[in-house]
Parts: sequence; C-alpha cells; structure tokens
Amino acid sequence: MQPFPCNQCGLCCRNVHLAEETRFLDRGDGTCRHHDVASKRCAIYADRPEICRVDRQYELHYSRTYEWDVFVKLNLEVCEALQSHCT
Ligand code: SF4
Repeated sequence: MQPFPCNQCGLCCRNVHLAEETRFLDRGDGTCRHHDVASKRCAIYADRPEICRVDRQYELHYSRTYEWDVFVKLNLEVCEALQSHCT
C-alpha cells in the first residue's frame, strides 16, 4: 500500500469545521487547534487523532468497500475541491 500522497498544503487542517467528524478540533475559526499556521504542519503529528490518519480510516471503515487506490483518488478529489474553494 503506497502512502497517501499528501502535499502538506494544510487545507484540511484549516477547514475542520466542514466535517462533523473533525469539528471537535476547531479552535473557533475553522482551523484545527493543533495546526501550526507558519509551518503548515500538525503540532501533534505523531499523536494526531485517528480521524486525521487516512490509512487508519481506510482500515477501520473503507477497506471492504474500496481498493486503496480508489480510496486515495476519492480523498484527492476532496483535496482538489478544498484547493479550488480556498484559493
Ligand atoms: S490534529 Fe493535526 S492533522 Fe489533525 S486536523 Fe489538526 S493539525 Fe491537522
């Protein structure tokens, strides 16, 4: 299984208010309270919640429905939608 090709744009971490599953991370303006805006990195990366781990979410909820490559493609479509919406 290839790793998810995250380009570390940080947009998912800056829009946690858009999904019910990540809303608990919202610091009040839609950005995750653990997101370091300057570096665009996660300040708790090694200990980030399971909802932030694409491979873990795949194992837990989607591996019986999609092949990994299809799941990656669907997630990348969300990345692209965020990039179009936010830039
Ligand atoms: S915990 Fe880390 S990976 Fe998860 S949304 Fe926040 S900054 Fe992003």
